[in-house]
Amino acid sequence: MPRKPKRLKREKPDLQTLIRELRSGNRTALARAITLVESRRKEDAQLARELTEACLQTGQDSLRIGVTGVPGAGKSTFIERLGMQFLDEGKRVAVLAVDPSSSITKGSILGDKTRMQELGRAENAFIRPSPAGDSLGGVARKTRESMSLCEAAGFDISLVETVGVGQSETAVHGMVDFFLLLKIAGAGDELQGIKRGIVEMADALVINKADGPNLEAARRAQTIFKNALHLYPPKPSGWTPEVLLCSSTEGTGIEEIRELIVNYRDEGLRKSTFQANRSRQNVSWMKRTVEEQLKSSFFSNPEVQLRYRELEKAVAEERITPFQAAEELLSLGN
Ligand code: GDP
Repeated sequence: MPRKPKRLKREKPDLQTLIRELRSGNRTALARAITLVESRRKEDAQLARELTEACLQTGQDSLRIGVTGVPGAGKSTFIERLGMQFLDEGKRVAVLAVDPSSSITKGSILGDKTRMQELGRAENAFIRPSPAGDSLGGVARKTRESMSLCEAAGFDISLVETVGVGQSETAVHGMVDFFLLLKIAGAGDELQGIKRGIVEMADALVINKADGPNLEAARRAQTIFKNALHLYPPKPSGWTPEVLLCSSTEGTGIEEIRELIVNYRDEGLRKSTFQANRSRQNVSWMKRTVEEQLKSSFFSNPEVQLRYRELEKAVAEERITPFQAAEELLSLGN
């Protein structure tokens, strides 16, 4: 009778070796390090913390680019093209994702192996699907930490993809240097992005699929967006967002987009707005993490949970003021 194969014990990584290999640019070490950061196992948490601490200040020369757009806008096709452009310039490119629905869809963005095949084969590229997580905050944090691991491994360009759902754009905007909104003409969502405040966050708006019979409609959309952007106050950095056209399948317009992003970085470094933005983002991550932890420890307190329901009812029936109820709950949570 064939013997059952022994289950391989998960080898405990030696942290110093892992950090050394990671810093030498080894992609297998990078993948292992990211798995540690994504892990929900308690025993991995300490290792993950030490790993990310060891990677502090390694991203000084890096460039972080966020790409958002509705499903079907062409994000994967675009990212692959743009990524190849950076590779041609001798850069090393990491592609990451923030997909808050990934725990349900098992990481649909980038999870599909048929996407970004060319980039996936390139030696100087690293592609990682979205981590799974219960909350957008958790998913975003893991992606952000993975990005610093990628930078420590010498990947100087990070492309972070997200779908235009919920608050995921805001989360990605808060972790990148340059935020790019990918649109398609005639999708009927021209005003949608404006209403939701996404256009306001964008450093560039790119109308994709500007090819064949779509070209005319793409040019019209470009005019609409250029006019709409005039209505916004200038950005604190003084940067004026541009509206560009491209075809990710034909490869037209991509080089201009790469140049625009590099110019943005150079201008930001000259005026010190680039580093100021990163510092602001770091502080905001600290604040958000404190807020999230406080909230989660408060609501997981059994005493609070018990009393919450009763007070909810009392407030709804106007037997107690909402402020009195809140005060009582807060005193329990202390
Ligand atoms: P995503 O869902 O935003 O990641 O979109 P994909 O990159 O998967 O692209 C969706 C579809 O649009 C695919 O069939 C692509 O081949 C197609 N597509 C992407 N970019 C272009 C483009 O520039 N022109 C045209 N005509 N089709 C494109």
